[in-house]
Amino acid sequence: MGKHVVGVVRCTTPVDSVREVIELAGGLNRISKSDRVFIKPNIVFWSRGVAFPKWGVITTSRVVEDTVRLLKEYGVNDITLGEGTVVLDPKDRETQEDAYRYLGYRSLEKQYGIKCVKVFERPFEKVDVGDGVTLNFNTDILNSDVVINLPVLKTHAQAVVSLGVKNLKGTIDIKSRKKCHNVDGDKDLHFYVSRLIQKFPRMLTVIDGIYSNERGPGFDGKARRTNLLIASWDVLSADFVGAKILGYTPKQVPHLAHAAQFYSKPLDMSDIQTTGVDVESVASFHDYTFPYNEDNTLPMPLVKMGISGISYPKYDTSLCTYCSLLTGAVLTSIAMAWKGSSWPNVEVLTGKLMKPTPGKKSIMIGKCLFEANKKNPELKDTIFVKTCPPSPDKIIEALNQSGIEIKPDILMNLDKFPAFFMKKYVNNPEFEESFFQI
Ligand code: SF4
Repeated sequence: MGKHVVGVVRCTTPVDSVREVIELAGGLNRISKSDRVFIKPNIVFWSRGVAFPKWGVITTSRVVEDTVRLLKEYGVNDITLGEGTVVLDPKDRETQEDAYRYLGYRSLEKQYGIKCVKVFERPFEKVDVGDGVTLNFNTDILNSDVVINLPVLKTHAQAVVSLGVKNLKGTIDIKSRKKCHNVDGDKDLHFYVSRLIQKFPRMLTVIDGIYSNERGPGFDGKARRTNLLIASWDVLSADFVGAKILGYTPKQVPHLAHAAQFYSKPLDMSDIQTTGVDVESVASFHDYTFPYNEDNTLPMPLVKMGISGISYPKYDTSLCTYCSLLTGAVLTSIAMAWKGSSWPNVEVLTGKLMKPTPGKKSIMIGKCLFEANKKNPELKDTIFVKTCPPSPDKIIEALNQSGIEIKPDILMNLDKFPAFFMKKYVNNPEFEESFFQI
């Protein structure tokens, strides 16, 4: 069997650079003109309230438009684009619409006759992904003939990298996303993510590395102008090369290692042939994890502020969807409440697995911890934020009740929180907003 070809190019010119990387990966001729093509960009997050860093977070509209244009030039007419962006209010349908308008997707509909769907407004279908595990996938992508997968070149605080395989998590429903953050060590997040590619039609992956992100996947990471595009008709090979460019061997990325084992793919990349730019010469280490103190009980920025009397143990892989969206805002609120005197031995616990420490005043955030611990008579003093999604005003109440007087400014205005992270990019000409407009 021949090797999987992965093209790597420097992104220099609209349309031509995407054309070049697709040609290096084998071209579009595996698509027939009558095929139904589904394009999956990455819009991991969106805010309607403020300008926020999109670099290395969201697929550039440049790459999305160039891909659509090339497909149309080739003669494909049936093109659907879809994404399922998680927002804190499950009933919110406006935020993703705002993203589609801002990113120019509605203009693409008019200009090229494509259809843009919001995954959470479409039907889902239960799919068996092996080993007795099922996930509910969007039917549009399942029933397409070809998928064009457009992830961003970025790291991920839980999954190490978020590339082609991980991008497909945006096509499953909320119930399945929560299921992926499983507490079973044998079938954890990494296992689930590795199974996402199981039942898709043929897939061309084009990793958008115009910007890359260290400590991704969100706006609180550190974006870099990287100017690369990586493409392959084999999603795992594209991800192996993408991971290598971010500084990781496939073995260091648990979901890629799981997938390699499941599909009998060599971890040493001996079945991959790269063409175009030399991978070694463009690889540059991107850290994926947020720094914590030695015993993982407090993020380093809070330690450096001298904060004491509180522990906020590091997120684990069971922390999911809504709770992940809140973590940065809760920690920032705590940091801003610090006045220099030690707090009364409080701990804030998250995810599905954390256990309270005897002698500490515990706050447990989320329905999962409430359900797992509500019957424990020893936890009568624990403060639970009982819901999923956890309610921001109940988090404020719990912290205040524990002696940490936080101001509600951030948690009650979550839409505005991402604006904090714009400062480091302002007046830096490398970070162009125009990449996200059509
Ligand atoms: S409470 Fe948090 S960890 Fe539990 S399912 Fe909801 S979002 Fe996930």
